[in-house]
Amino acid sequence: MVVIGGSIGGLTAACLLRDAGHDVEIHERAPRELEQRGAGIGFLRACSRYLAERAGVDLDEISITTSEIVYLDRDDTVLHQAEHAYRFSSWNTVYRRLLRAFDGDRYHLDRTAVEVRNDERGASVAFDDGSALSADLVVAADGIGSTVRAQLLPDARAEYSGYVAWRGTVSEADLPPEITARLGDAITYHVYANSHILVYPIPSLDGSVEPGGRLLNFVWYRNYLDGGDLRSLLTDHGGVVRDLSVPPGLVAPEHVAELRATAAARLPATIAAVVAAVEEPFLQVVYDISISRMRFGRVCLIGDAAFAVRPHAAAGTAKAAEDAWTLDRHLRSGRALDSALERWETEQLALGCDLLDRTRRIGARSQVLNTWEPGDPELIFGLHAPGDPEPANV
Ligand SMILES: Cc1cc2nc3c(=O)[nH]c(=O)nc-3n(C[C@H](O)[C@H](O)[C@H](O)COP(=O)(O)OP(=O)(O)OC[C@H]3O[C@@H](n4cnc5c(N)ncnc54)[C@H](O)[C@@H]3O)c2cc1C
Repeated sequence: MVVIGGSIGGLTAACLLRDAGHDVEIHERAPRELEQRGAGIGFLRACSRYLAERAGVDLDEISITTSEIVYLDRDDTVLHQAEHAYRFSSWNTVYRRLLRAFDGDRYHLDRTAVEVRNDERGASVAFDDGSALSADLVVAADGIGSTVRAQLLPDARAEYSGYVAWRGTVSEADLPPEITARLGDAITYHVYANSHILVYPIPSLDGSVEPGGRLLNFVWYRNYLDGGDLRSLLTDHGGVVRDLSVPPGLVAPEHVAELRATAAARLPATIAAVVAAVEEPFLQVVYDISISRMRFGRVCLIGDAAFAVRPHAAAGTAKAAEDAWTLDRHLRSGRALDSALERWETEQLALGCDLLDRTRRIGARSQVLNTWEPGDPELIFGLHAPGDPEPANV
């Protein structure tokens, strides 16, 4: 079997298929091992499950459990506070552990898939160096900009949500102790007209999860008109116009200055201190992608290559991993491969549609309708539903 894309979705699928006895290889476009500088993730059960259940990883060593949800008012006072356990990690921490759980010799870097085809053996993948591979099954986990989706579903379009997520991390050691004490055991929100920001702790770049040695991560959703405003934001400091994100260190200085000035003027002081201390804020545009099929003969789309959902349920990596777990379950069902894939597709299309609807609704309430109520249960992170499953993994 061939997996295209070696991030969290692709690695989880490859590990599970390998465990089920299949001969699996991953082909990843990046020329060297992937690295994202510390972007935090809500670490939901579907995403942590492989590491906990199959790789023997103690989740406390790779993630942080917070115990409260806190909303701060503009004047920095507490508007709402409730006990709720969440687990947070970072993309690189999870990626490194999954990569370790897979066989390095079967993880091929610098391999860009350009085309897939169904054929008499199953399916085949062509790469940009002119080579091709055949397999019983091809799993396309090539992310939001999926080449495979573009080929198989040329009409599927990324729809701009109307806003971007500004993000950044700062070491706890670089912040005053009163700030880290206030933010270190919670997810802390501030909501104002047509925007919201949240802050939570994540492991440091070297993986430390000890208080004082971790990072604080912020995600700030801000509206930009499609057209000139968005284009200006996405024009990096070298003049290149980007489409999905502008990485750390490349955001044009005038936009970083505007971010810092708005943080100082508008956010509660505790959260503003975090934004001010981040050296290289970066941003990701929030898009929705909805598709009507995930299976094309012996080619399956999983994770962001299938549905891309807004981050408000913190469920993107969990959905990618769940697509893989469900595929594994159906392939083990004893049914013929095509029938198993058909059942898998039905189940995962429903999950993708539901999650997309929920995250669109949450986004609209925050960024457009201004109906976010601190403590509203719909705003709790979760894959299948807010707060699901019971935090057995916490
Ligand atoms: C602001 C923001 C906040 C988020 N917060 C969270 C969160 O808290 N929790 C959470 O779970 N998720 C979160 N997400 C979503 C999460 O990042 C994605 O859903 C997740 O990374 C999807 O994983 P994936 O494996 O499907 O795709 P990706 O991680 O995008 O990986 C795709 C891989 O495919 C490779 N590739 C691409 N094209 C090709 C090709 N042609 N050939 C070979 N390889 C290729 C890429 O190099 C990449 O390695 C957030 C997203 C955003 C934008």
